[in-house]
Amino acid sequence: MKVDDVKVIGIVGAGVMGHGIAQVAARSGYRVVLVDVSQEVLKKALENIRSGPYGLQRLVEKGKMSKEEMENCMERIKISTNYESLKDVDYLIEAVPENLELKRKIFGQLDKICKKDAIFATNTSGILVSSIATAVERKDKFIGMHWFNPAPVMKLIEVVRGALTSNETFEITVELSKRFGKVPIPANDAPGFFTTRFINSWLIEAIRLYENGIAGIREIDEMCKLAFGFPMGPFELMDLIGLDTVLHIAEYLYEETKEKHYAPPIALKKLVLSGYIGDKKLKFGSKGGWYDYYGIKK
Ligand code: NAD
Repeated sequence: MKVDDVKVIGIVGAGVMGHGIAQVAARSGYRVVLVDVSQEVLKKALENIRSGPYGLQRLVEKGKMSKEEMENCMERIKISTNYESLKDVDYLIEAVPENLELKRKIFGQLDKICKKDAIFATNTSGILVSSIATAVERKDKFIGMHWFNPAPVMKLIEVVRGALTSNETFEITVELSKRFGKVPIPANDAPGFFTTRFINSWLIEAIRLYENGIAGIREIDEMCKLAFGFPMGPFELMDLIGLDTVLHIAEYLYEETKEKHYAPPIALKKLVLSGYIGDKKLKFGSKGGWYDYYGIKK
């Protein structure tokens, strides 16, 4: 297979990342099949692609896209709650919650449904790609394609080769990422790869500094922006990423490495257990994030 043979992109999971990836793929001219277990999530995904904070409407308003192009783009995205609708996709990107067993179960099912030559990519933030690949026969066609949030805005795709990923799969993924308008950079397979180990240490440290009473949530965010020129602070970033995702990653990295600085702080666990899993506008079913739980004005 060559990158030119990729015509239809399948995406499993239409949440924070899945809907953004669908938007990018459709905008790059690909037909997209977007699948989720929840019809409500799928409807919300289409709404967000059209008029969410990073949606197409924004580009129309800025004069970067015509209304007609936007409608054509929306037309290219089909939604479904049935895995069978993924049977003809050429390249499949999985973006379901950060849970090894869930990902393995889904890939195991899709391995039987999808075309034999379709490439399978996981958008896992940090689970060892080779361990997810154990669920499929097509281990040579399995790869990590790690996007960043918000997918329509962030430029990097961290491309992670599993132990048995073929050169062809790697090259197609690199080329496809470029066609999506992104910059692919390879990293070796390891829990958290490069980016997630790096960002996780920073986010967890910010929570610990807050727990130790060194500075408040808004103050930490402000200081990071004003002192270091970061576009957003660590608590704002966690609200965007999803606190459940941050927690899963911290638990996984700690379990795999036994390095104490990765262990999830109590404050993070408490919020997730109480249903505060991130930005309400983006994260379906969330009561809100750090600012909402503590009643802090932005
Ligand atoms: P999310 O919870 O917003 O979305 C996951 C979606 O998967 C939900 O809509 C859910 O209904 C759906 N889903 C659950 N089980 C399913 C199943 N069996 N079949 C089909 N769909 C199913 O999560 P997210 O933040 O989009 O994260 C998805 C993946 O992307 C995770 O592995 C995460 O680590 C990774 N990731 C997240 C970010 C981020 O900033 N949120 C960034 C990079 C990578």
